[in-house]
Amino acid sequence: MHVVMISRAESAETWAREMRRQNPALDLKVWPDETADIDPRDVHYIIAAKPPPGEIARFPNVKAVLSMWAGVDHITSDPDFPTHLPIARMTEEGLTRGMREFVMAQALAAHLKMPDYLNQQRDGVWCPEIRGPHGTEPLVDEVTVGVLGLGVIGSDVAKALADFGFNVVGWARGPKNIPGVSAHHGDAALDQVVRQSDILVNLLPRTDATEDILNAELFAALPRGAYLINVGRGEHLVEADLLQALDSGHMAGATLDVFRQEPLPDSHAFWRHPKITLTPHVASITRVKTGVGRLLDVIASYEGGQTPSGVVDRQAGY
Ligand code: NDP
Repeated sequence: MHVVMISRAESAETWAREMRRQNPALDLKVWPDETADIDPRDVHYIIAAKPPPGEIARFPNVKAVLSMWAGVDHITSDPDFPTHLPIARMTEEGLTRGMREFVMAQALAAHLKMPDYLNQQRDGVWCPEIRGPHGTEPLVDEVTVGVLGLGVIGSDVAKALADFGFNVVGWARGPKNIPGVSAHHGDAALDQVVRQSDILVNLLPRTDATEDILNAELFAALPRGAYLINVGRGEHLVEADLLQALDSGHMAGATLDVFRQEPLPDSHAFWRHPKITLTPHVASITRVKTGVGRLLDVIASYEGGQTPSGVVDRQAGY
């Protein structure tokens, strides 16, 4: 039984070294160099980060595909991806904690109006009162953060924001019970969450139901001066609608980590927009050591006849 690693996005060399360290008995082959001479029928598991379209379909006896990332759109967007194949998402502590740190930093920066002060510094302007006349600057308990997506990562982020003192409202498909978080669910509840959100964090997966969800209608429902943190996927955001909401003055700013086209093209308006903080899809990454531990656990579960946690519901798309 071979396990094949197909990665065009993570360092296969680094991951393979760690896998072999943690489980020297594993018959791991790294695509493309080590898979040229193997019989495709002997491959039972594929570990993937942005595999080339059509590649996974070449292996007829695969039992499961293991994503190196939390999102699986980099696998399911392949038109030749076999619909019957189970996909195990990446869930691991480092990825969750990394996102907690990133969103906390961005939420605090937005709350403290740091992007505006940085623009002032660049322009040589001394104006302390961006946060309101002195003595009236709000503290976090006067700020409501909305978190879209209360899954493995979103629920952790929502709880951390609430623990820090923010008012937190959240939204998912099904009901949730997260200490300190006012959780809502279902399509009809989205508007209610958005209307309260001074800062809106998107941690949804990319599915047919969530694509384009960050659009003009949603932005119009946000309180005036709201701030968006998009760490879900670029396809969630209607880019022109965001530019319009920022330029009209309705929204104060946005932190964008993910984009429809990555790398973001040089000519894109986001690069130089004064209200946009931009990072190159680095909000959080899978940590190799804990990520490899998760991959080995998933394979062990399947080999032991069990279904691991975090298997994608192909109907729902996440
Ligand atoms: P999960 O699958 O654990 O959680 C997804 C959440 O979204 C669930 O709470 C789910 O609801 C909710 N959801 C899905 N569809 C809908 C819908 N139509 N309406 C309302 N709620 C919906 O995913 P993770 O928390 O592990 O990751 C979330 C996403 O974060 C990833 O898919 C990826 O796109 C992004 N990500 C980005 C990174 C970056 O560096 N920028 C790094 C890691 C992840 P329910 O719980 O009811 O099922």
